[in-house]
Amino acid sequence: MIQEKGKIVDIAIIGAGPGGMAAAIEAKLAGIENIIVIDKAPHHNDMIHKFYKKGKRVDKNWMGTTFDFTGNVTFQECTKEEYLKQMDDKLAFAGVLDKVEYNHEIKRVIKGEDGLFSMVFGTDGVAEATETMKARNVILSVGRMGKPNRPNYIFPNELKDVLDFNISKVKNEEHVMVVGGGDTAGEYAYGIVELEELEDCVVTLNYRKPEITRMNRINTEICTRYLDNGKIINKMGVDIDSLEVGENRMIRVNYTDGTCGEYDRAVYALGGTTPKDILVNSGVKTGEWDVPEHNKQTFETNVKGLYTIGDMITDQGSIALAFNHASYAVKDIAAKLK
Ligand SMILES: Cc1cc2nc3c(=O)[nH]c(=O)nc-3n(C[C@H](O)[C@H](O)[C@H](O)COP(=O)(O)OP(=O)(O)OC[C@H]3O[C@@H](n4cnc5c(N)ncnc54)[C@H](O)[C@@H]3O)c2cc1C
Repeated sequence: MIQEKGKIVDIAIIGAGPGGMAAAIEAKLAGIENIIVIDKAPHHNDMIHKFYKKGKRVDKNWMGTTFDFTGNVTFQECTKEEYLKQMDDKLAFAGVLDKVEYNHEIKRVIKGEDGLFSMVFGTDGVAEATETMKARNVILSVGRMGKPNRPNYIFPNELKDVLDFNISKVKNEEHVMVVGGGDTAGEYAYGIVELEELEDCVVTLNYRKPEITRMNRINTEICTRYLDNGKIINKMGVDIDSLEVGENRMIRVNYTDGTCGEYDRAVYALGGTTPKDILVNSGVKTGEWDVPEHNKQTFETNVKGLYTIGDMITDQGSIALAFNHASYAVKDIAAKLK
């Protein structure tokens, strides 16, 4: 479909996560049928597939922020697996499943003199090519977990197989250090404690602050319970100075207070980085923390017709927020297409 020569769509949506999928449904509800959604993964919601632990509760209020749905797309709080099923059903019901093209990584979009956007694709190391399809408007919703944040200290090469950004590789009986103070770190730490297949793991939570301040109520309660009863070892209130190869376990962690610990694996839950390249290479101006400059009501950037939504524009993102951004962006496009 993407190679349909000469085809012009009203909206090309880049990224099929919560923001992109909600944008597709909103477009359909606004009567905009001529759209395409492009994702580099082989399925929608890839970030959720990869980073959410098995059976994870999908909360509406995330990172201590409460949200109301302002658009047409909503979800019921449930498990990761049920959430993905809800999304499948919503996309099928809206009739947009066949609008999605998978396995295409978009590198940048170029606005031509005719006012239409071309999309340049290609994976790293492979020559870039331009889609033959063009778009009147583009909604970028590529998230930020393509590049998870790393700490300032060096990751020694010998340790690269045991320094992770989610818990999918954790094996039973490993001693695991989880680093971070937000909901994701909390869920990873108690997720390991609660998963039956990881019941013999030993989990340590490291956060530079001594208290939990950034988790939602439920995660705070669960983590506090496990920190109090010792099921999660408390290594909060201290930073990490450096990592090196350990004597008894693979990783030796040197803390800034002079103490050290040895672990089989470390899992970093420090959020992600704004995907600056795709923005800058598409002509979008970025400001503090590389966040794209955009209209706060419509989400349109300085490039007219190019919108950015979801995690791309905030490090405090959530599913509900991405849904809401999508509805405002599509409303603006729908009004302009009339
Ligand atoms: C572990 C974890 C747990 C979380 N739990 C919750 C929760 O319980 N409740 C909640 O509300 N929020 C939660 N969040 C946050 C929430 O998942 C995000 O805010 C939300 O997914 C953001 O949606 P998005 O569409 O902006 O980006 P993403 O979900 O990151 O989707 C981006 C999509 O773009 C695709 N993509 C990326 N680059 C390209 C490219 N160049 N070309 C084509 N496609 C591309 C990706 O494959 C992906 O499908 C959690 C986050 C994490 C990491």
